[in-house]
Amino acid sequence: AQQFLWPILRLGDVVDDYERAKAAGSRVQGVLSRDPAVSDRPDASALEVTNGAVTYDDVRFAYSRETVLSEIDFAVEGGTTVGVVGPTGAGKSTLLKLLPRLYDVDDGAVRIDGQDVREVTLQSLRKSIGYVSQEPFLFYGTVAENIRYGTFDATKDDIEEAARRAQAHEFIENLPSEYDTLVGERGVKLSGGQRQRLALARTMLKDPAILVLDEATSAVDTETEAIIQDRLAEFAANRTTFVIAHRLSTVRTADRILVLDDGRVVEDGTHEALLETDGLYANFWRVQTGDIASLPQEFLERALR
Ligand code: ATP
Repeated sequence: AQQFLWPILRLGDVVDDYERAKAAGSRVQGVLSRDPAVSDRPDASALEVTNGAVTYDDVRFAYSRETVLSEIDFAVEGGTTVGVVGPTGAGKSTLLKLLPRLYDVDDGAVRIDGQDVREVTLQSLRKSIGYVSQEPFLFYGTVAENIRYGTFDATKDDIEEAARRAQAHEFIENLPSEYDTLVGERGVKLSGGQRQRLALARTMLKDPAILVLDEATSAVDTETEAIIQDRLAEFAANRTTFVIAHRLSTVRTADRILVLDDGRVVEDGTHEALLETDGLYANFWRVQTGDIASLPQEFLERALR
C-alpha cells in the first residue's frame, strides 16, 4: 500500500518504457543514432571536458508538433548529483536524451563546460557520457566483449577490474566459460541483476565524466539493488550525475532535485528545501512514505484522473 498512488501515475507507460529504455541504452552507448538530423557539423571539434558542468539554456523540444519540454533553464556544476523526478510523461527521459544528442533541441542550447553539444563530435560527446538504463542492452558476444563495448583499448585486466568493482566478477567466474561465455540473444541466459551488473561494469570501464542513471528498479532483487546502488554512489561521487528516479528515496541525498511536470521544471532544490516548499515533490513524498491521509484533495483528484 506504500506505493499506492505512484503506480497509478505511471500506469500505461510501463511496456513502452521498457522499449524506450532499451533503444536509448543501445544508442547512447555508441551505436550510431538513427535520427538523420543528428550528425557531426563539418567544423565539429572534440568535446573537452574540464569540470563536467552542464547547462540547459532556455531549451524547448518537441518530438513532432506537441512541445514536450519548454523553458528548461538550469546550470549544474561539475561533480554534482542531480535527481530528476516527476509524474510519468513529464519529460524526464527526454530531458536527458538531449545531453548525448539522441535528439537536438528546437530552441536554446545544451552545453557541457560551455560547449554546445551540437558543435562537438558525436563520438567525443558520447564517450564522455555513461548511460545506465533500466533494461541494459547486451549483444550476442562474450561477457568480456560486452563489458569492453566501445572501450577498445581496454585490456583483459581492465575488464576484470571493472567487473570486480561492479560486483560481477564472482558470477562471471561461475559461468561455463567465464569471461568467454557467450551472452545476449542466443547465449547463456542471465538474470536481470546479472545483466545490470555487466552494464555497470561496462560503464565503469568507460569511465565517463558525466553519468546518467535511469533508475534501475526492474528485475533486480532487493539485495542486488542495494549493492548496485552502493557501487553507483561510489562511482558517481566525483562526476556529474543525473538520476532519473521513480522512487524518491533514490534521490533523497542528491545535491539537487529537479521536479518536472508537463515539460517544465516546476521545483528545484534539495530534498529538505522541496519538502519546505510543500508542492508537488512534497506530495509525492507523502505518497511514497504512506502519508496519504494528509494529501491535498486536488493532488488526489489529479492522481486518480
Ligand atoms: P516516465 O516516467 O514514464 O518514464 P518521462 O517523464 O521520462 O516519463 P518522457 O519519456 O520524456 O517522460 O516523455 C515525455 C513525453 O514525450 C510523453 O508525452 C511521451 O509520450 C512523449 N514521447 C516520449 N518519447 C517519444 C518519442 N520517441 N516520440 C514521440 N513522443 C515521445
